[in-house]
Amino acid sequence: MLRDDCIFCRIAAGEIPSETVYEDEYFKAILDLAPAAKGHTLILPKAHYQDVTELEEPHASRVLPLAAKIGQAMKKGLGCDGFNLLQNNGEAAGQTVFHFHMHVIPRVADETEALLVWEPGSASKEEMAETGSRIREGFAE
Ligand code: 5GP
Ligand code: ZN
Repeated sequence: MLRDDCIFCRIAAGEIPSETVYEDEYFKAILDLAPAAKGHTLILPKAHYQDVTELEEPHASRVLPLAAKIGQAMKKGLGCDGFNLLQNNGEAAGQTVFHFHMHVIPRVADETEALLVWEPGSASKEEMAETGSRIREGFAE
């Protein structure tokens, strides 16, 4: 279901114009208004899911193959050398539009600045065992 109060629902439905690079019955892929790189694309399902934890069929199994297809089209069409797939879930993770979307960001060799940079941290064996067990516990109903 699409929602009137959601900007990406309205873009996916074609009510708000966008530069569309791909469209099928399940998705619309549009250029990001504030691109991290030329060609930065957002894949929007034509159904409202807040984030990946809500994502269901028929979109769930199709979004990753579509991202690969768009990345290949970028390599051919834009001549980029690679691309990043990025997908934010929750405000703490940088999500600003709460309609699931996948970023596809073209990358050019020599433009080496990483988009996602973190200082490699450290964790002891004991800490990793404790962290691992807490995540495994999270699978419990
Ligand atoms: P998020 O931070 O939620 O993962 O990404 C939201 C993205 O949507 C941002 O990169 C932002 O530039 C883009 N964006 C927000 N509003 C619009 C819009 O109305 N049209 C387009 N094309 N992109 C938008
Ligand atoms: Zn929506």
